[in-house]
Amino acid sequence: MNSLVVTKENFKSIRENGIGFNFKVINPADGFRKDNRLWFGTCSECGESVTNSAISGRGWEHTIYLVKEANHSVSKNVTYCPKVGE
Ligand SMILES: [Zn+2]
Repeated sequence: MNSLVVTKENFKSIRENGIGFNFKVINPADGFRKDNRLWFGTCSECGESVTNSAISGRGWEHTIYLVKEANHSVSKNVTYCPKVGE
C-alpha cells in the first residue's frame, strides 16, 4: 500500500491543509485540544470522523468501525479512506 509520507517538516502543513492519503479533511482545524496534540475533522469522501495526533505523528487517520452497536463499538484508525480503497 502506498501512503503519504509524514515527516516532522510537513506534519504541520498536512494537518492545516487537511491532506489525507486518499481523502481530504473538512474543517481540519476544528476541535483541536488546548494542548495542541489532537485535531479532529471530517472525511471529504465519506463523512466519517478523522483525527490527527501529534503523538502518533502519522498524519490524518480515518476511523473504521469493526463493530458499531448501540452499547458496543470497536474501531481502529487507518491512514486511508475505506470508501476510496486502500
Ligand atoms: Zn472516508
